[in-house]
Amino acid sequence: MSFILHGIGVSEGIAIGHAHLADPAALEVVHYLIPKNQVEKEIARLNSAFAVVRKEFGALQQSVADGHARAEFSAFLDLHLMILDDPVLSEATRSMIAQTYCNAEWALKQQMQELLTQFEAIEDAYLRERKADVKQVVERVLKAMLGHPGLLPVATKMSGDSILVAHDLSPADVMQYKQNQFTAFLTDLGSQTSHTAIVARSLNIPSVVALHHAHQLILENDWLIVDGTHGIIIVNPDKYVLDEYRLRQSQFELERKKLQRLKSVAAVTLDGTPIDLYANIELPEDIAQVKESGAAGIGLFRSEFLFLNRDDLPGEEEQFEAYRTVAVKMHKLPVTIRTFDLGADKSLKGSEQVATNPALGLRAIRFSLTEPKMFHKQLRAILRASRYGEVRILVPMLSNVMEIDQTLHYIEYAKQTLRDDKIQFNEHIKIGGMIEIPAAALCLESFMRKLDFLSIGTNDLIQYTLAVDRIDDAVAHLYDPFHPAILWLVSHIIQSANRAKVPVSICGEMAGDKQFTRLLLGIGLQQFSMYPSQLLTVKNQILKSHLPDIIPLAQKIIRTYQPEKMAALLAKLND
Ligand code: PEP
Ligand code: MG
Repeated sequence: MSFILHGIGVSEGIAIGHAHLADPAALEVVHYLIPKNQVEKEIARLNSAFAVVRKEFGALQQSVADGHARAEFSAFLDLHLMILDDPVLSEATRSMIAQTYCNAEWALKQQMQELLTQFEAIEDAYLRERKADVKQVVERVLKAMLGHPGLLPVATKMSGDSILVAHDLSPADVMQYKQNQFTAFLTDLGSQTSHTAIVARSLNIPSVVALHHAHQLILENDWLIVDGTHGIIIVNPDKYVLDEYRLRQSQFELERKKLQRLKSVAAVTLDGTPIDLYANIELPEDIAQVKESGAAGIGLFRSEFLFLNRDDLPGEEEQFEAYRTVAVKMHKLPVTIRTFDLGADKSLKGSEQVATNPALGLRAIRFSLTEPKMFHKQLRAILRASRYGEVRILVPMLSNVMEIDQTLHYIEYAKQTLRDDKIQFNEHIKIGGMIEIPAAALCLESFMRKLDFLSIGTNDLIQYTLAVDRIDDAVAHLYDPFHPAILWLVSHIIQSANRAKVPVSICGEMAGDKQFTRLLLGIGLQQFSMYPSQLLTVKNQILKSHLPDIIPLAQKIIRTYQPEKMAALLAKLND
């Protein structure tokens, strides 16, 4: 029978193939009593299941260390190991078996419920969301106990056109799937920021999440059409629908291939205005992809990723090597290194935030200024790397001028220590600030007097302007980049910077979203920074844009406060 499911498309494109179901819910366990003299044996069974899972995680961690996976996967794995080691799961389950003579699976399931209740009481939305991770870890231990050790039964028997259908995907699953090319991912749960979405986007394959019952309704080997652009799944389509989507798929692929030709084409509008397209990176390894995209430099190196998923902190030498590598590989193209934006959802291991509102707490430059020794090491490392390329310093989350003064003071001090040590660096290194707090946008004049360049962090600017936590999917519908207040603020920043002749870029997600390209060009933006995979699509928009036509329409959109009118004008602009 053919039917259609709707979800949230999180990664564009069309895939056609056979459904491959991830394991059915292993959490349904039976309850039985064991004889008193079997208690030890039952506990030993539980212990060996924990050991099997720990070993699996160890093997996966190894593959992270070998560089097969990116930083975020390693963080997810660490979290799963932490859950596995939680005494509520391990010790309390053992006690329950000993005291109530129940089977190990049952005891583990009860303790899982206990842990989930504890998570529910946590005020931090991010941690609360990690309940799914608890279930995934327990599921894995249960599989090991039920005689199915080893993860991911799907991984071994996959064919070339397999589409993964899962209730939810754990980070560990995702890591293995990363090495086994699925053509699409579908999940019942998830949101724009879920693990599935992250990996699907980084793999550049279609993905639809929040399908609710797909895992129940779709059967193994069902024919599926996945439209990742529109969030639609067609199960067992008839011949005509299949033909239609095959056509759309080849058109989509053709468009993608055509875009490759733009790699070495200069990003210039039809009226001859050159636009700088930069790349966002998290680790030096990302440079390979940057080269593929033909980016004109690095607009945002999120240096905090060097600090995550590890027990120690990277020292000056290690950081210097990372920054130098990027500077050298970019051959004198600009490399904008953002000082670590730690805190909120990117905390150092062992110092996870307990603040009530972590996004409003000790984060980014606020954190750096309270850790002068750590900050000093990073500044020295960046300054030393400045000898090897066009390195620039970018300071995140500035909210007042005093923070700029203090930061400049620390930079000057780091420079002095290098002079004293007779170590060379670029004395004239450019220092920029991220404009991502409304207060900074509203006091821009005083910021511009002290900074060489600005970079607009629209991800946070939206979060802080609209008071919508960017990682809380309960309010995700309110996270609206098209909100008139956002468009007005972004336009105000760009136009003020242009008037003052201070270079300004956008490095938040807005810069890589082609829906915004013309609008941003029309309000005067000439520097965009985005993930390398988005760069050619944006370049394509730029090449087809004529500024004299765009500017009046863009200005009109900025002054429009009615959503319907704005949508109509935007459609006209992007036509
Ligand atoms: C932003 O806030 O837009 C930004 C680019 O920084 P991050 O996403 O790392 O907070
Ligand atoms: Mg930010």
